[in-house]
Amino acid sequence: MTNAKYSNYKSQEVEAFMMNILEKTPNVKPVFDLNLGYRYPDVEKTVNKTVNETSDFLEHLVNAEVLDREIFDMELRCPSCNSPNVSVNYVCPKCTSSNIKKTILVEHSKCGYLGTLISFGEVLTCPKCGEQLLEGNYRNAGSIYECGSCQHQIETPFINHWCRGCGTKFSFENAVYQQRFAYLPSKSTSVEMSQGILYPSLVLSLFEEQGFSREMESKVTGESGAVHSFDLAFKGYGLNFLVDVYFSLDPISELDFLRYCGKITDAKASNQNIDILLIILPSLTSEAEAISKTFNLSLIIGEKSTIVISKLRTILSEKATALKALSALETETIAETSEINKEPESQNGIKKKFTILRGIKRK
Ligand SMILES: [Zn+2]
Ligand SMILES: [Zn+2]
Ligand SMILES: [Zn+2]
Repeated sequence: MTNAKYSNYKSQEVEAFMMNILEKTPNVKPVFDLNLGYRYPDVEKTVNKTVNETSDFLEHLVNAEVLDREIFDMELRCPSCNSPNVSVNYVCPKCTSSNIKKTILVEHSKCGYLGTLISFGEVLTCPKCGEQLLEGNYRNAGSIYECGSCQHQIETPFINHWCRGCGTKFSFENAVYQQRFAYLPSKSTSVEMSQGILYPSLVLSLFEEQGFSREMESKVTGESGAVHSFDLAFKGYGLNFLVDVYFSLDPISELDFLRYCGKITDAKASNQNIDILLIILPSLTSEAEAISKTFNLSLIIGEKSTIVISKLRTILSEKATALKALSALETETIAETSEINKEPESQNGIKKKFTILRGIKRK
């Protein structure tokens, strides 16, 4: 079911991550911290998670195909204490001393002597023929390491590590050496972002704009006894609203749509005072559309989130106006009811008004 991916966007922390980070800088790179290693400080702040939890959160989004990852760098850690605060030492392969110096190789062109710059001494005299080095009679033959302890000339030194945290010395064989990643939106997420993702908070703000308040309890028990969970629930003007959002890159299939129809019908059958709204992006397949005509559903369908938002705004504003008028009428009716005793003949008028009210509520 393609909608499984969208269910991630319904989580508050994923939405915060998407809106505040991914929609702004679609390449989330780690930052190196000497004590904690590579971390994602902006993500940590946005989703309010620790360094490790944030890594797990990002990896979860990779598994959910929301994100892709690419190798950013390799991270070296101490095998005893796991600290990333590790020093790299070059070691003499002959005597294992780390006292090795980088020096220049010099060739005395006249006699052909080739040696390190150090071997020429401070006055720069050739140790073979005793002549002083002068402009034009020598050449720089590249650089080399020389061991300060055994004077061995080293072409490729061994590499050793030293942990600044616990002092352990270790070689590359037992070093903890791991890939660290930069994260970016997957292909499908990029397309979704460019079409506009319908985040629950966008729906929430539209309802609040019209005077509805959010209900944290969004589960209802249907006629069958099954408990149905909806994405959002609202309350206002004596009415309860339940909202489900279906978001995908493909039209909703007949089977997925039937599941929604079953759920909504079951929920409505046992709950008189609820209105259920199904928001669908981008569209219905023709088979699903045929089914939609046989059910009495409140559907909002749009290719893009902007279209859906504007449709929803219109519908909610109409509902709110009608519901406000209704509650004004009810107040008036109560006022009239209290006068019934005085004027028994007005009772017929009240009955008429109630019939009108029921008509509006059913719409
Ligand atoms: Zn250590
Ligand atoms: Zn010489
Ligand atoms: Zn040595």
